Amino acid sequence: MDFTGKTVLITGGSRGIGRAAAIAFSEKGARVTISFRNNKKAALETMEMLEGSGHLPIQADISRPAVVQQMVDTVVREFGRLDILVNNAGIFEAHPIDECSYEEWQESWKRTLEVNLIGAANACYCVARHMIRQGGGRIVNVSSRGAFRGEPGQPAYGASKAGMNAMGQSLAQALAPYNIFVGTVAPGFVETDMAVELLKSEAGEAIRQQSPTGRVAKPEEVAYCILFLASEQAAFTTGCILDVNGASYLRT
Ligand code: NAP
Repeated sequence: MDFTGKTVLITGGSRGIGRAAAIAFSEKGARVTISFRNNKKAALETMEMLEGSGHLPIQADISRPAVVQQMVDTVVREFGRLDILVNNAGIFEAHPIDECSYEEWQESWKRTLEVNLIGAANACYCVARHMIRQGGGRIVNVSSRGAFRGEPGQPAYGASKAGMNAMGQSLAQALAPYNIFVGTVAPGFVETDMAVELLKSEAGEAIRQQSPTGRVAKPEEVAYCILFLASEQAAFTTGCILDVNGASYLRT
């Protein structure tokens, strides 16, 4: 996989899977922009880890539509083009239906959908308009096994990722005529800040044992699949949802 000369925008690139993808793209020759919500320290640490030069960090809360537009415009202004969008930023909040108040329930649904689904949809819109003008591009969405397996304690998260899967399939159809291809990865649990508390808790061992490998994914393993879906040669996978879950949840 060679991304020499390609411009990549990764939302939520300050930590976890986004950071691993940023490093991997930079090692394959890309110029990488990472966005982050407010963790500037982590974003600057990621910048230090990237190969080569010309990379860019941008603070951008993707739940704010105008900010998403500014983020995309900044990348296009800086680099003259935008070849690959990775919709990776996401939140995972508990709001168990049998414990939380009605107000907490509504707030969690709103926050989760605004970031995980509508933020990603808005990034797709802004990026696609540039990609259509420039003659093509790639979009990779970072979804979750939870869309298929269920998220009993975080139902808005599961719904947001199911929505993201459907969005990716629809946009793959809408954008293929413009030489824009859309892929989705659906990881199970991954060793990142998002999952660290659960993995350290009493539930951790049972979670690892969901996979016959006895472990969860490393961020680099998800990053590899993101790069694969963004690669030139993977164009005809457009519309696919690639499971990255160590056979912990198999669907046909
Ligand atoms: P993470 O370590 O918690 O990092 C989340 C990233 O998203 C950070 O860069 C964060 O920025 C950014 N972010 C959060 N809200 C944002 C917002 N409103 N605007 C812009 N950026 C925002 O998460 P991760 O585990 O790497 O997860 C990455 C993706 O993989 C998510 O979409 C997640 O749902 C998905 N996923 C994760 C797992 C898992 O087990 N970890 C499993 C399946 C799918 P700051 O650093 O500034 O906070």
